[in-house]
Amino acid sequence: MKKYAPPVLILIIFEAVAASLWLSKNNIFYLFNFSYIGLSISLGMFLYIRRYKHARRVVQLLVGLYMLVYLGLVRRENMQIEGFWYYLFTGVFEAATIHYAVAKIFGPLIFGRGWCGYACWTAMVLDFLPYKTPAGPRKKLGWIRYITFACSLLFVGALFVFHVAHLEDIMFWAFIIGNVLYYAAGIALAFAFRDNRAFCKYLCPITVFLKPMSYYSLMRVTCDREKCVSCGKCRRVCPMDVDVTDNSRKRENGTECILCMECVKNCPRKAL
Ligand code: SF4
Ligand code: SF4
Ligand code: SF4
Repeated sequence: MKKYAPPVLILIIFEAVAASLWLSKNNIFYLFNFSYIGLSISLGMFLYIRRYKHARRVVQLLVGLYMLVYLGLVRRENMQIEGFWYYLFTGVFEAATIHYAVAKIFGPLIFGRGWCGYACWTAMVLDFLPYKTPAGPRKKLGWIRYITFACSLLFVGALFVFHVAHLEDIMFWAFIIGNVLYYAAGIALAFAFRDNRAFCKYLCPITVFLKPMSYYSLMRVTCDREKCVSCGKCRRVCPMDVDVTDNSRKRENGTECILCMECVKNCPRKAL
């Protein structure tokens, strides 16, 4: 039973967050929201422990679809980065800002890029494409993410500077159009570079938050150098080109690890 302690612990943590936000903000939505996400993640961990090979994909679909369809389309919460800027500028500490604080700014100090591996609705679709591991070497295009990041900030900043009306409607349509553009760019890049995660590596503006915070992540895959025979299998199955055999924080592409566990599952020496 000891092996089931991590999913139980995750569930307890999420329930604690759910209950605290529910009581402090007097809004039962938070109880439902964080309980659902906690249950989904715990279920995925449980399935992983039971060696179900699609465990990660189950969580990705449960959380990603919930955020995209229910929070985005039904509740009209813009959970894209534009939504984060919008709620930040209006001073409203509600769903989008809480979501960013938990999943993308402070959470990565604990669970690194877990969001990218288990919850992102953009990657949820990209991971269905045929290039699970990159077919070629990494391109030096990571700078593009700073442009998309700046564009999102400028776009929302301009709405406030020019006192544009109907901001709630604009943010809803920005969410829809933004997602369509992200999917189109993500799919085009995946086929162009033969790499499902090319969008994550070069374009995604959220990585501007995710990368520096996940550098300090508590949860990370480490290598037992005594067992490792340097066969390189872990590197070949990694979708993010991480050199997981290097235990230092400065490992190559270390801030890109999405904790998918493909390297762990495929290491012939159980060194990870
Ligand atoms: S890098 Fe961006 S698009 Fe990729 S999984 Fe993370 S948040 Fe989603
Ligand atoms: S797959 Fe395992 S044994 Fe091979 S290089 Fe990676 S950690 Fe070492
Ligand atoms: S294969 Fe390993 S190193 Fe690569 S992203 Fe997945 S967990 Fe991280």
